[in-house]
Amino acid sequence: MKERTLVIFKPDSLEKKLLPELLRRFQDAGADIAALKMAKLEEPVLREHYAHIFGKPYYQPLVDFMSRRSVVLCVLEAENAVSKVRALIGPTNPENAEKGTIRGDFADSVRENIVHASDSLENAEIEIKRFFKPEEIF
Ligand code: ADP
Repeated sequence: MKERTLVIFKPDSLEKKLLPELLRRFQDAGADIAALKMAKLEEPVLREHYAHIFGKPYYQPLVDFMSRRSVVLCVLEAENAVSKVRALIGPTNPENAEKGTIRGDFADSVRENIVHASDSLENAEIEIKRFFKPEEIF
């Protein structure tokens, strides 16, 4: 079954000019780009997106990081897209991420960890709707 998942290329990935390398990795793994755009995320949408960590001490620094410049938002489509993309990016904390994963290779810290990807099919549907209009997805 083809699935769709939401990927956010976080500010650090763009500052490090990693977008081509990251898209290459996802496409080499069989994922197709169904939607792609730039946006500057601000507190209201980030509060919604990170509701599950609202109240934690790292919430506000995370919002500051995610809004410090524009990001790239992407919908990827593949067989088992959610688990496939999560495996490619690796665990949240790069100290626990293997070399060869995106976070293992490129992330500087648990906060500045290069990409977001949906963690379940249910969340992927919610997150795609959060950031894309139906007519922006191909
Ligand atoms: P993931 O993005 O891997 O699904 P979470 O949903 O748990 O992880 O956390 C969302 C984001 O919050 C992480 O990607 C990371 O940028 C940040 N974050 C998570 N845990 C910490 C932490 N202990 N300290 C600082 N930032 C964190």
